[in-house]
Amino acid sequence: MPLVTLTDVTKTYPPALKGADPVVAVDAVTLEIEQGDVFGIIGYSGAGKSTLVRLINALEPATSGSIVVDGVDITTLPERRLRAVRGGIGMIFQQFNLFSAKTVRANVAYPLKLAGWSKADIDERVAELLRFVGLADKARAYPEQLSGGQKQRVGIARALATRPAILLADEATSALDPQTTHEVLDLLRRVNEEQGVTIVVITHEMDVIQSIATRVAVMENGRVIEQGDVFQVFSDPQNPASRRFVGTVIKGIPSPAESAALRERHAGRLVTFSFRDGDSSQAQVFLDLAEAGLGFELVYGGINDIRGRAFGHLTLAIRGADAVIDAALQRIRAHATVTEIAAEGAR
Ligand code: ADP
Repeated sequence: MPLVTLTDVTKTYPPALKGADPVVAVDAVTLEIEQGDVFGIIGYSGAGKSTLVRLINALEPATSGSIVVDGVDITTLPERRLRAVRGGIGMIFQQFNLFSAKTVRANVAYPLKLAGWSKADIDERVAELLRFVGLADKARAYPEQLSGGQKQRVGIARALATRPAILLADEATSALDPQTTHEVLDLLRRVNEEQGVTIVVITHEMDVIQSIATRVAVMENGRVIEQGDVFQVFSDPQNPASRRFVGTVIKGIPSPAESAALRERHAGRLVTFSFRDGDSSQAQVFLDLAEAGLGFELVYGGINDIRGRAFGHLTLAIRGADAVIDAALQRIRAHATVTEIAAEGAR
């Protein structure tokens, strides 16, 4: 059984102005998060990601649909029983949300105190957590004395204190620089692998999904427009809306404006070749073009790596007689995805 199951979940908010339509923040979302997943939820700002997290976290009630967390249907649960559900879910935030007047140690101890742990147990657990996140030497420091990455490590230690089954990370690396992001993501990966915690990562950043998520849901306008294995979704999106979204976050696909600029700068026909992991078709494309006697130049492209599997998009400007180019592209279509950028730059 999945750890979290959402079935046809909708959340609407009353309109800001009287008489206007209600805001549909989450729209008929159905998804399953398996035990042990690092499940990414990606989408632009306003897509409904944070609302979805607040629903899973039982911080807000859904308007309709059902949400089952660890076998418990939280949509029908009375408030006093929701506290136990929330206790099984840890949470980290973009702005860390640490208590500035408390030391690192007291921040991490806080949820344990609330849960009624004994002082000896709290001391032992806090020491263990601070060792795990690499901050044993900062126990007496205050948040303002820490770097952003260290603050988020404290946030992670605090979120894990009561041994939750699920950790929700809401834009947890969005305030960090790339190097620190990398370190925090490494730590989250260890939380998942070494402690068996299921992680839900909410982000607008592709790099985050790429580096730690095992499965992903793409959100737009409150809806999940595509979900599945990360490599599958990003290397071969099925739905036109998610293809559009993926085009904006994946390296190598020129935007319409970039296509227009390429067209101005380069003579010849602009053709994008898309490749997926494991096939040798990339080399074959160059061979096929060379054998047809065509001149070509690489003008745009990028290779993406998702957990050790590569896929990419390379755009070439190809020069030669149209009929010769057409015949070569025909041959190449048998082993690679070929997309020609139309003359006016529209795709
Ligand atoms: P994201 O996290 O993807 O940026 P949100 O879940 O914050 O998206 O917001 C989704 C939509 O719901 C937005 O249109 C937002 O304005 C609206 N929304 C979110 N929370 C509330 C609220 N408490 N009251 C009214 N509208 C809200």
